[in-house]
Amino acid sequence: MRLMFLDLKRQYASIKSEIGPVIKRVVQNQYFVLGEELLRFEEEFADYLNSNYVVGVGSGTDGLILSLKTLGIGRGDEIIMQANGFIAGAIAAAELGATPVFVDADKDTYQIDVNQVGQKMSKKTRAILPVHLYGASCEIERLAQLAKSHKVFLIEDACQSHGTMYKGKRVGTFGDMGVFSFYPSKNLGAYGDGGALCTNSRKLYESLQRLRNYGQSKKYYHEVFGRNSRLDEIQAAILRVKLTYLDAWNEKRQEKAGIYKTLLKKVKFQTIIKDSISNYHLFIIEVRNRDKLKTYLEENGIETLIHYPVPIHLQKCFRYLNHKPGDFPVSEKLSQSILSLPMYSELRDEEIYYISDKINKFHE
Ligand SMILES: *Cc1c(COP(=O)(O)O)cnc(C)c1O
Repeated sequence: MRLMFLDLKRQYASIKSEIGPVIKRVVQNQYFVLGEELLRFEEEFADYLNSNYVVGVGSGTDGLILSLKTLGIGRGDEIIMQANGFIAGAIAAAELGATPVFVDADKDTYQIDVNQVGQKMSKKTRAILPVHLYGASCEIERLAQLAKSHKVFLIEDACQSHGTMYKGKRVGTFGDMGVFSFYPSKNLGAYGDGGALCTNSRKLYESLQRLRNYGQSKKYYHEVFGRNSRLDEIQAAILRVKLTYLDAWNEKRQEKAGIYKTLLKKVKFQTIIKDSISNYHLFIIEVRNRDKLKTYLEENGIETLIHYPVPIHLQKCFRYLNHKPGDFPVSEKLSQSILSLPMYSELRDEEIYYISDKINKFHE
């Protein structure tokens, strides 16, 4: 057996008959940027999230940058975020001249350790930027309370958590803004780069619309320095089709995760916090001998990945912050011991049996 970590061709085969016509529709209209498809998608995604507004942008990373920029965050400001996970939030802060202030991860949920956030608050803190990591919800309600009591902004990096719920509410809608990525491998993925922000604030919505479009609200009248970062019409049209399947696809992933969890022995799973439903963007196991297991699985035709092998505070680009190994022990330990197994809606049950069997054999 040869098992890819993610085989997007299977998903495409299931929606091919709907995708072709919508791409054709955009091409026939010859209207490619800031048109009807984007408007419709923004309405439909806002509806799905139960948020007042959605603004489509060029990528998740752009969404994070614009979220900080629209709040006027920049040089001299601090943003609290976790040391484990994907680097985009830290890059966004750095790009605007702000300082990422790291907090360690919780050893069971792998999410930002809320108990450490308060100690990191300073006069310079302007925002907390948690990630809902691997598609599971972080302790978003407690973070919202902390943000409120310290009068700082809360921006949710929901780039991995399309459809994830906490207490019956979609994540991304708890903070001042939520940021989503439509990178092809995400649970809601475009056929290229794409991203979006959601917010309930009309003021932030209008500001984000200007910032993604050269800082103009009227053509060629520029009130602020904006950039060019828009979700294009072809991507929006594709996402409109895929959004109608998102819940069903997420449910499939939840089923697959359930199968893995019943079959796998002697591995630790990510703890999903109470009252939340993960979209299982990634399925993570924590093991000793991670590198050996990875090689063993490769030899058996199973592709796995590591999300992520280097914690953010130890990345070369953040050398200037002078962090050293040992600063965030949980994040560092996780980077050595976690492994992401194949997980997507079209993954077959037999394939999960095969993968689980090999992992159990490795541990015998
Ligand atoms: C994918 C991802 C991003 C970045 O999104 P892009 O669209 O690739 O720029 C940001 N944060 C997290 C947690 C992600 O997984």
